[in-house]
Amino acid sequence: MNTLEINHLHVHIQNKEILKDFHLTINEGEIHVIMGPNGTGKSTLSKVIMGDPHYKITKGTITYKNKEIHNMLPDERAHLGIFMAYQMPTEIEGVRESDFLRTALHEKEGDSFQLMHFIKTQEEIVQKLGMDKNMIHRFLNVDFSGGEKKKNEILQMYLLHPSFIILDEIDSGLDVDSLRIVGEAIMDYYQENKPAILIITHYQRLLNYIHPHFVHIMEKGSIQKTGDASLVKQIEKEGFDFFTQNSIGTIYEK
Ligand code: ADP
Ligand code: MG
Repeated sequence: MNTLEINHLHVHIQNKEILKDFHLTINEGEIHVIMGPNGTGKSTLSKVIMGDPHYKITKGTITYKNKEIHNMLPDERAHLGIFMAYQMPTEIEGVRESDFLRTALHEKEGDSFQLMHFIKTQEEIVQKLGMDKNMIHRFLNVDFSGGEKKKNEILQMYLLHPSFIILDEIDSGLDVDSLRIVGEAIMDYYQENKPAILIITHYQRLLNYIHPHFVHIMEKGSIQKTGDASLVKQIEKEGFDFFTQNSIGTIYEK
C-alpha cells in the first residue's frame, strides 16, 4: 500500500515558489533519503507534509494511506501516525519534557493511555539513547545541547509510535557516538515496526546505520534524480553539481 503519495505539489512562501511540481511516492516499509543543496526546499517539504500553516499549497495533492491530508490540521496528521523530527527542535520554557510527552501521548491514545506503561517506556528509551535521566524533568529543549535535542526527537518518536517518520537532518549536531546511538535506535524502531521513513541528510555517515531503499537528489524544489544507496557515495565524490550539470535526468517514474 502507498503510505505517502505527493503529486504535482507546488508550494509558496511569501510569494516565492519553493516546491515546483514535486512528486514522491513512499510505500509501506520503505526508507527514502532526500539529499540536496541548502535552500532547495527539503525542510519546506517536510513541514508541508506535517501541515505547517506558513506554507501555502497552490497546486497538487498529498495523500497518506489513500486519504487526502493536505487540508488537514497538523494534529489530525499526527493522529494518522505521521511524525517529524525537526531540524531545529523548539525550546519551550516552562513546559517540562516529561509533561509534554505524557500530554502528547495521552492526547493520541485517549482512554487507552496507561501512565505506568508510559513511564516504563520512557525510562527504557532514555536509557537506550544514553540520555541523562534527569533531562525529562527539565524544560523542553531549553539549554539542551544539539545532540540532546536530536535524541529527544527520537524519544518522542518511540513514544508516539508513528507509521510514517520524517527525519530532517537528524544527524546534524551529533558527535560520532551520538550518531551511532541515534542511527541504531532508528534502525531498531524500523526493524520492529516497519514504518515508512523519509530521511533528509547531507551526509553519508547516517547511512552507515540506516539502509535506504531509494535515494533522491532534490534541486530547486523538485526531485531531479532517483537511485539506490550507491547514489549517496557518488554524491559525496562528485557533489550535486555533477548531477545537475550533466543533466542525467530523472530515472524515477511515479
Ligand atoms: P533546505 O531545507 O533544502 O535547506 P528550506 O526548505 O529550508 O531549504 O528553504 C527553501 C527556501 O525557502 C529558502 O530560500 C528559504 O529561505 C525559503 N524559506 C523557507 N521557509 C521560509 C519562511 N518561513 N519564510 C521565508 N522564506 C522561507
Ligand atoms: Mg533544511
